[in-house]
Amino acid sequence: MSDVPESHPRYLSLKLRDTIVAGVESGVTSIHGLMAHGRGEAFDYLIGEKTQPFAMDAIRAGAAALLLAKHPVISVNGNVAALTPCELVTFASVLEAPLEVNIFHASKEREGAIQEHLRKHGATDVLMPTTDAQLSFIDSNRKFVHPEGIFRADVVFVPLEDGDRCEALQKMGKTVVTVDLNPMSRTAKCAGVTIVDNVVRALPLLIQKVQMLQNTTLNELREIISQYSNDKTLQAALQWIRRKR
Ligand code: ATP
Ligand code: MG
Repeated sequence: MSDVPESHPRYLSLKLRDTIVAGVESGVTSIHGLMAHGRGEAFDYLIGEKTQPFAMDAIRAGAAALLLAKHPVISVNGNVAALTPCELVTFASVLEAPLEVNIFHASKEREGAIQEHLRKHGATDVLMPTTDAQLSFIDSNRKFVHPEGIFRADVVFVPLEDGDRCEALQKMGKTVVTVDLNPMSRTAKCAGVTIVDNVVRALPLLIQKVQMLQNTTLNELREIISQYSNDKTLQAALQWIRRKR
């Protein structure tokens, strides 16, 4: 990273900024991704830049939903690819689920750069958008999906999702598990499970939770999901943000 010492109080946050900037420079992340990152940073500040209990609850429910899925898929955009490439590859192998590139701003070049970036980090199976399968209820570039991936998935893990597509996926009967630092975003409200946390902290914890729950019975996994309320989780996140310090 530039010349910021590790002792700097904003070291981690500044390091992440550098990672996103490097993502833009290498063609993996869209320039618009910088703004999405900035919005995330603001909410991260408000939640204390730590994984809070409401995020842990969602991580548990998200892990259960993904373990119960018949066809889980991990959707990857330019921000997530830049921030957590190793974790995405590990998660795909732990879940035995494909990674699928899906970005908002149409660009064949950037889709290829994301695929290449994931491969460099050890991914073997990276599905790409196709014109053979399209999501209903959505007009943006994100409607183009892979027939063996998001199109047939019953549970989709989509960190840093866009509200429109989250709604479209839900309307198609798919369960959405997302990571979004903004508990007020359309995505956060529309997803089945919203992990209000930074993806760089949440993804390693989600991987750990999936590994911990791997031998849990189906009934116990269903029980975890039935006890979970996404509305309550978002309310808890909002209360945390509003609390007096
Ligand atoms: P929506 O379309 O759901 O209303 P939005 O339009 O406000 O959301 P988008 O640009 O579509 O936002 O998606 C970016 C979202 O990702 C924002 O809510 C932002 O807070 C969140 N975000 C950005 N960086 C991170 C990160 N590192 N970890 C988790 N969430 C993040
Ligand atoms: Mg949006």
